[in-house]
Amino acid sequence: MLTDEVLREVRELKQDCIVLAHNYQIPEIQEVADFVGDSLGLCRAAQRIDKPYILFCGVDFMAESAALLNPDKTVLMPDLEAHCPMAAQLPAEVLRRAKEEHPDAAVVLYINTRLEARAEADIICTSANAVKIVSSVPEKKVLFGPDANLAWHVQRHVRDKQIIPVPEKGHCITHLLFKREHVERAREEHPEAEVLIHPECTPEVQLLADHICSTEQMVRRVKESSAKEFIIGTEIGLVHRLRREFPDRRFYPLYERAICRTMKMNTWEKFMQQLRERKNVVRIDPGIAERAMLSLQRMLELSA
Ligand code: SF4
Repeated sequence: MLTDEVLREVRELKQDCIVLAHNYQIPEIQEVADFVGDSLGLCRAAQRIDKPYILFCGVDFMAESAALLNPDKTVLMPDLEAHCPMAAQLPAEVLRRAKEEHPDAAVVLYINTRLEARAEADIICTSANAVKIVSSVPEKKVLFGPDANLAWHVQRHVRDKQIIPVPEKGHCITHLLFKREHVERAREEHPEAEVLIHPECTPEVQLLADHICSTEQMVRRVKESSAKEFIIGTEIGLVHRLRREFPDRRFYPLYERAICRTMKMNTWEKFMQQLRERKNVVRIDPGIAERAMLSLQRMLELSA
């Protein structure tokens, strides 16, 4: 619980700085953020910034997207070492080799990818718009990476295309923690609850869901649903946001230990340090910025 004194200090320090926070950030950071959302929402929020500093509380690929969209602003991170392990699973050279093997394929990359690889893509997607983006490309064959579980989800919905995951078994280590037993136990304990599962979970777990949703789609589902209870199959941070926004509903994490260590590298102490000192500046290699920006812009235009 943040004291009035701390909140006052944050307000003063934030006068020239916007705080963007991903749904998986610690509760204290979510409390003081100007915008809390998923990768797509954060990209859109980054396009509307009217202050010279952005303190981006998330992981590397998200802050890099904000920096691409705001070349005239200073983008900071509480911890510059917050590198998403999934993004590291698709080095640019692996993607280049796949492109050589499949010259007739479109390249759609999940935003959770390093910029060097994103510079090789035709278009970027998030888990919220992956089906729509893949459906929109004219090619019948699509190289999709790095998340093979999200690729599986997209293939279920886009039957007329061949989705080739690159790498073959890319995954999020946090969402891999969810197992069939967790869903079965949660359903037994909370028989009235709707089960919402993120598409980064394995196909086995996805098939047990009532709804497969990105984090923002989970928020929307809760808003629209008449259910009073929900089992949340994604990183624990979203449960905090849902409890805050919907105090009349009940939320049960599918597995309390599904915690993304990288997201949680952004501690309150590091957050305050950057608000005060502003040293952790996100820098983009100018050699890849233009191409990485193009694939990101295409997604934003298509999902507008
Ligand atoms: S939850 Fe998974 S995909 Fe998201 S930042 Fe953590 S490791 Fe990367």
